[in-house]
Amino acid sequence: MWFLVRSAAIRAMAIRGCAPVRPLTSGVPIHTNSHSETPDYDIIIAGGGMVGCTLACALAKNTKLSSQKILLLESSPEKKFTLTDRYSNRVSALNPTTKNLMISIGAWKHIEKMRLQPVKNMQVWDACSEAMITFNHDNLQKDVAYIVENDVLLYAVNEELNSADNCNQIEIIHNSKITDYELPGLRQGVQNSLVKMDNGETYSCKLLLGADGANSKVRQTMGTQYVSWSYNQMGIVATLKLTDSTDNTTAWQRFLPTGPIAILPLNSNHSSLVWSTSPQEAKSLLKMSDEEFVQTLNHALHKQYPRNTVVDSAVNALSSFLSAAFLPSGITRQLPPSIENVAESSRAAFPLGFGHSVRYVSKGVALVGDAAHRVHPLAGQGVNLGFSDISCLVDILSNAVYSGSDIGDKSHLLNYETQRQRHVVPTSAAIDALHKLYTTDATPIVLLRSLGLQVTHAVNPVKKLIMSHAMA
Ligand SMILES: Cc1cc2nc3c(=O)[nH]c(=O)nc-3n(C[C@H](O)[C@H](O)[C@H](O)COP(=O)(O)OP(=O)(O)OC[C@H]3O[C@@H](n4cnc5c(N)ncnc54)[C@H](O)[C@@H]3O)c2cc1C
Repeated sequence: MWFLVRSAAIRAMAIRGCAPVRPLTSGVPIHTNSHSETPDYDIIIAGGGMVGCTLACALAKNTKLSSQKILLLESSPEKKFTLTDRYSNRVSALNPTTKNLMISIGAWKHIEKMRLQPVKNMQVWDACSEAMITFNHDNLQKDVAYIVENDVLLYAVNEELNSADNCNQIEIIHNSKITDYELPGLRQGVQNSLVKMDNGETYSCKLLLGADGANSKVRQTMGTQYVSWSYNQMGIVATLKLTDSTDNTTAWQRFLPTGPIAILPLNSNHSSLVWSTSPQEAKSLLKMSDEEFVQTLNHALHKQYPRNTVVDSAVNALSSFLSAAFLPSGITRQLPPSIENVAESSRAAFPLGFGHSVRYVSKGVALVGDAAHRVHPLAGQGVNLGFSDISCLVDILSNAVYSGSDIGDKSHLLNYETQRQRHVVPTSAAIDALHKLYTTDATPIVLLRSLGLQVTHAVNPVKKLIMSHAMA
């Protein structure tokens, strides 16, 4: 068992564990024969973001894959992370399925040791009506999600990746930008994938895994159709200080006609903001002074929007009927927190878009995470979908190799594609539909969505079905 890390930029090679598989001759192109010779690696992972690193870790720890030689290539430098009092403005709401994956690869204990905030209740409500829904388990007895900083998750996964307990040979090269690929199946006689680096080096592998994000070059080289559009929205993120200290275990989301605004708990007096809005408003929100920003944010969270009396009467009438017939006891509407302050320089904006690759696989190639699918953050599903890709893919690959199949065999990869698309396609479509349904204040749509939300809130089996799908 051994582990090797190399930073191409500093040309330093650190060897952890046992001896490397072969000497790494920096700067000297590695000539591989793509036709017949043994490839340099069994698996190359392109991209070491949250999904790529977790995938590498899950592969490295899988005993059935112990014969596999794996390389992870990431264009950014290796991050030195130290936990400070200051929270990062990039966080993710992780679902319990992701927690289980993190436990299985040994990363969860590091996350718990650093910090996370359990979410016991989610309240989602419509600014244009009285309609609202809450999501929780058994009257707040169980966690529905965990808010974890992306840097904390990456650090935790890397701790495990760097540990000596890995079963498999794995190398990680930071500062290594991939410029081009030659894929099997696209050119005659090419058996293995060739991965070409900006420093002139080339690596070959039997299986190339594209974890290189929404603008995936692996996906582009596969030539698969990619359905995508921009939401013409930016997601403003920031770290917020709350006016009052509470147990802060509720995640809040208010749908404004300009886009949803979410407040995710970090600790008893801090929360993280994800505010989706038009590019124009985003620009002005970024330019404002801290005081003006906080005032605008509190206004957006608490402001009473103009109401339509028809919608209000219909929602009230339905609510009275439903509360007599079904309404779950216990959890009622709560007021969202009020914000006192925004952490200095924590405001940033990210473009929001939809993307779905029609194919996730081709001969010897598979896509995972945002490379395969990109969704609006309103449901907190993006990276959770990527993590579920990992569980599915590693399971399929390990069983395939264990039963003597080749790791790049397309039939197993197709199995991965089918299983994942069965879940990802309806989930992405539902998130997109929610976005469309809520970015309008047209009365018939507001009426329809408000009645729908009230019914879903009241009928527990429907709500449970939505929760179990979101957590799969
Ligand atoms: C505002 C906002 C809030 C969000 N909140 C949530 C949430 O609460 N819950 C949730 O589940 N999801 C959330 N998401 C979605 C989540 O952030 C993404 O799904 C996730 O970051 C995707 O991870 P990834 O590793 O697939 O891709 P990326 O994070 O894009 O990583 C790709 C990696 O590949 C590397 N790379 C790319 N090209 C190359 C190359 N040529 N050579 C070498 N390396 C390369 C990049 O440097 C990068 O490190 C949110 C997104 C946004 C914008």
